[in-house]
Amino acid sequence: NRFVAIKYNINGAPNECDFEIKSETICLSARSKEVIVKNLYVSVDPYQLNRMKAHSSSQAAISFATAITPGQGIDTYGVGRVVSSGRSDLAKDDLVVGLLTWGEYTLAEPGRLLNKLDPMDLPLPYYVGPLGFSGVTAYGGFYEVCKPKKGESVFVSAASGSVGSLVGQYAKLFGCHVVGCAGSQLKVDLLKEKLGFDDAFNYKDETDLKSALKRYFPEGIDIYFDNVGGKMLEAAVANMNTFGRVAVCGAISEYTGGGRKASPDMLDVVYKRITIQGFLAADYLKCYADFISTTAEHLRTGKMQGLSDISYGVESVPSAFVGLFRGDNIGKRIVQIADE
Ligand code: NDP
Repeated sequence: NRFVAIKYNINGAPNECDFEIKSETICLSARSKEVIVKNLYVSVDPYQLNRMKAHSSSQAAISFATAITPGQGIDTYGVGRVVSSGRSDLAKDDLVVGLLTWGEYTLAEPGRLLNKLDPMDLPLPYYVGPLGFSGVTAYGGFYEVCKPKKGESVFVSAASGSVGSLVGQYAKLFGCHVVGCAGSQLKVDLLKEKLGFDDAFNYKDETDLKSALKRYFPEGIDIYFDNVGGKMLEAAVANMNTFGRVAVCGAISEYTGGGRKASPDMLDVVYKRITIQGFLAADYLKCYADFISTTAEHLRTGKMQGLSDISYGVESVPSAFVGLFRGDNIGKRIVQIADE
């Protein structure tokens, strides 16, 4: 089994040389209650960087996902095929979705999140993106945290990324006015021409984000779905309407330590009675059945587009991961580990 590990804790922007591909011999015969999975598609996510840092003990205590230990395998969401099963609900050759690893095989010990997957008529990578963790994040975050009303103005950052592209599409289908920002003209064109956003802009072209948002939202923002934190969050809060909602999904501009930590004007928050709420996808697993049926139907009928950005082979995991922080990806970044 070849798998990816970090060589040491990473504090700052990640580089490919921070990673190594290791090899181990594994037994492909599962013991009772264990499952051995051949990994097919594995997710590559920005939050993994926070797990790679050296944490203080107080941070570790509130950590939403366990810290990654140098030299050890790294778990991630993904789709695979059962090689050997010691579980009565899973058989050899079944497709499964759940917690896999950045490697060729996963040894799923008892209790690990791993469910049988019936892929219906949709491509398998969708179960890592729009029908996976990103999808439930976008769905729960938009409907439950943002509490949208028809006709409201919605701003989405990292809008061509996995979560952002889905949020913008849910918001359009719901009847909102949606503007997204992204880091290149290619991405801006995609948002407007393929994903149906009302407008979009390249934030890297703007010297003053507050006035840029004033230009795109002359009547103010009702909902800001925040994927980036930092200066963009400050600018969005300055442009929020009374009783506006900010869903804080992530703060990627702050993960590498290079960007400024957001410091929104709290008097704006008070006087405009703005709600700023962080959330985790796991909080919204209760919506899972609704989420899957609604989203699968939208994808099938073409009302929503699933964007998958796929590279091949376990060796490509480090560059796929590092590229997230340079904005290399469009849509859900996935590594295909093996042929279906
Ligand atoms: P994306 O597919 O959006 O990929 C990351 C994108 O972020 C890049 O393509 C890039 O796009 C943008 N980006 C990178 N660096 C910066 C920067 N310094 N400033 C602004 N934008 C930057 O990733 P995901 O959709 O998987 O994740 C989006 C956010 O949601 C992340 O913050 C992530 O941590 C969070 N998240 C939270 C979850 C939760 O449960 N709360 C679950 C899943 C994700 P561009 O070219 O536009 O700059």
